[in-house]
Amino acid sequence: LPLQKATALTHAFIARLVQPRDTFAHKGNFGHALLIAGNTGKMGAALLAAKACLRSGAGLVTVQALADTFTIVQVAIPEAMCVARNAEIAYEKYTAIGIGPGLGTDTISSKLVNKVLNNATQPLVLDADALNIIAANHLLEHIPSNAIITPHAIEFDRLFGNHHNDAERWLTAIEASTKYPFVIVLKGHHTLIAQHGKAWYNTTGNAGMAKGGSGDVLTGIITALLAQRYTLEHTAILGVYLHGLAGDLMLTNEAMESVLPTDLIAHIGKAYL
Ligand code: AMP
Ligand code: MG
Repeated sequence: LPLQKATALTHAFIARLVQPRDTFAHKGNFGHALLIAGNTGKMGAALLAAKACLRSGAGLVTVQALADTFTIVQVAIPEAMCVARNAEIAYEKYTAIGIGPGLGTDTISSKLVNKVLNNATQPLVLDADALNIIAANHLLEHIPSNAIITPHAIEFDRLFGNHHNDAERWLTAIEASTKYPFVIVLKGHHTLIAQHGKAWYNTTGNAGMAKGGSGDVLTGIITALLAQRYTLEHTAILGVYLHGLAGDLMLTNEAMESVLPTDLIAHIGKAYL
């Protein structure tokens, strides 16, 4: 990887970004996150994102999902609320929106992604199937400036064309960040964060995170930080670092083979400390 093109994230730098909680705070201070995620057979992605979002400090979390999947969400996460996929949503109610994990790429999901791109004015996280829909419909130009996109290598290639390796992807990501206004989080062993031609790379995380669901956890964390009104830049940096650190902390007495994204969520609290 062309490490000289980016700045390494250090613990000292990250620690300064975390905002202390006000003693007199109420849930309204920490925002209301909307997660548009999950579909039949893929509700796990929505659960992981929603749980991670709550564990990362969001004041309220609502999952927009198919009405016949509400029970899944409500039983697994009593703290989360649900709103139907076909509901006319007043987006203004929400402080931040995360869209994509387990969403599916059917027509209805495509319409939802379009609706969010065209109507939402708050900070957005675009991940997984939201990115696949954006790639398939050539909507890159429609991503607003207050968005963070979180592609892994394959999703990145769908958006920006094929690459031979991550080194090439890094160069494209940094270049693309000068052309597009949104923040690019290119996930991998050293996740790259690029904004306006400036880049950072992550130094936390491990191969124990190479398991379906890890990315959904990141989407939840990042949506929570946006809901708490961290800037886009600080959110991307802090979210990626904490996610990897939770991944490192979950390895205490556990093999990489065995750990789950659920364990990652359980360690977010320790990563914050
Ligand atoms: P996804 O492919 O969307 O599930 O995202 C996977 C997440 O896990 C990303 O945040 C990656 O950075 C992280 N991850 C996966 N494998 C590794 C690895 N070998 N080293 C560090 N982080 C990893
Ligand atoms: Mg993913």
